[in-house]
Amino acid sequence: MEEAKHFIGNRWVAPAVGETIPVIDPSDGQMFAQLARGNAADIDRAVKSARAAYDGPWGHTSAADRGRILARLSMLIGACHDEIAQLEARDTGKPLKQAHADAAGIARYFEFYAGAADKLHGETLPYQTGYTVLTIREPHGVTGHIVPWNYPLQIFGRSVAAALAAGNACVVKPAEDACMSVLRIAELAAEAGLPDGTLNIVTGYGYEAGAALARHPGIDHISFTGSPATGAAVVKMAADNHVPVTLELGGKSPQIVFADADFDAALPVLVAAIVQNAGQTCSAGSRVLIERAAYEPLLARLAEAFSELKVGPSKLDLDCGPLISAKQQQRVWDFLSDAQHDGIAMAAHGEVVSDAPEAGFYQAPTLLRDVPPTHRLAREEVFGPVLAAMPFDTEDDALRLANDTNYGLVAGIWTRDGGRQMRLARRVRSGQVFINNYGAGGGVELPFGGVKHSGHGREKGFEALYGFTVLKTIAIKHG
Ligand code: NAD
Repeated sequence: MEEAKHFIGNRWVAPAVGETIPVIDPSDGQMFAQLARGNAADIDRAVKSARAAYDGPWGHTSAADRGRILARLSMLIGACHDEIAQLEARDTGKPLKQAHADAAGIARYFEFYAGAADKLHGETLPYQTGYTVLTIREPHGVTGHIVPWNYPLQIFGRSVAAALAAGNACVVKPAEDACMSVLRIAELAAEAGLPDGTLNIVTGYGYEAGAALARHPGIDHISFTGSPATGAAVVKMAADNHVPVTLELGGKSPQIVFADADFDAALPVLVAAIVQNAGQTCSAGSRVLIERAAYEPLLARLAEAFSELKVGPSKLDLDCGPLISAKQQQRVWDFLSDAQHDGIAMAAHGEVVSDAPEAGFYQAPTLLRDVPPTHRLAREEVFGPVLAAMPFDTEDDALRLANDTNYGLVAGIWTRDGGRQMRLARRVRSGQVFINNYGAGGGVELPFGGVKHSGHGREKGFEALYGFTVLKTIAIKHG
């Protein structure tokens, strides 16, 4: 892997202008590498490279052969698992066990979509006598992928593996805050046999390289994961070229716990859903809505669990690592100081271990109680390890609270009552609903995406493959 270069046409390429971006280890705040600061000229070069691959060797590769290359890539990622996990942990600050899960996750994405590549087919449609009508699913062509910093490996894997399986050539703009692992995967993709130009990576800032990708006329589809404001900006830029955009924008996901729930099963899941990746997870369970009869006892157990949580550098592999950057840390502090100012009580918090480096971006997991539904802590995405607890009285009350944000990504429902499980699952406004579990371990097979400000379009499963294709209808009149 070469420092401060883009990966274009299967080789390391010096940026058009030789400026760099420092890569900071969030565990100690120290720079450990540099990225190329890409601009519109670099993006243009990458798009042309992808177009040549699409019009050439990659476009002529059969679906079965695409699957074979992706399967080889999955195996190569598996063979380099430790190296990739270590890189991800250092770059993002996440505890090693989470980085190992993410490295296994990206291998699984390429494995799943390798198997799916030659199973994507159209239909024949009944029409007038004398006609045969069929549909075929074709790739968009050149797809753009704008990836955030919270799960570089997983989010790169879920969109790029599906796009390649469907036959697209890709240009990726990963996040300036964390993307070292993604650069390593690009190198492995070339080794796996992807033809030159099929997968190109341009690093850089969002407002430069990201915006240049979003407005490039040579792009046929964009997949974006990140904040709602940037997502809206990307859609506006893409609209000038009438380019479709898939948006995955985060959430304020509720976990609804009724008094009849199995608390022993729920408790560790409620904690993990907000502590995983230091709360910097789009599907974090950041609100816990508890039936009033069980509110105090469950809150007491949650508080006990929070007070035992330990935070430290990625290599110590504790419950929680640092936040990604000083900027993200400040964002979380601003939310917490608002809570304090507005008299919201802290029920418990974890502990930053004493040997955590001073310059790291640490924040202890924090449980807030009786958060008013109108407060920004109940409505906005903190993107940190902060859980907002609030009581409810009836099923309708729970549903109203659950749906009372601009977001709608994931919801968790904890109850033994089968009728209530289904009533709520049908009425809660979110892209995924988990009953007596949460997140289903990532579930590569399970379509994922939001409603409202959480975005539109679906990642994962076969739905993602459909999203990376356009449907063509062919009508043959044969008499
Ligand atoms: P962001 O949306 O600004 O960045 C996400 C990606 O978009 C990065 O690759 C970035 O370089 C790129 N980008 C930024 N500006 C762009 C532009 N004008 N045109 C094209 N691309 C652009 O997110 P952020 O600033 O890194 O984080 C801010 C907040 O976003 C977080 O606090 C969190 O709430 C949310 N977020 C959500 C997710 C998620 O998984 N849904 C991921 C990261 C951040």
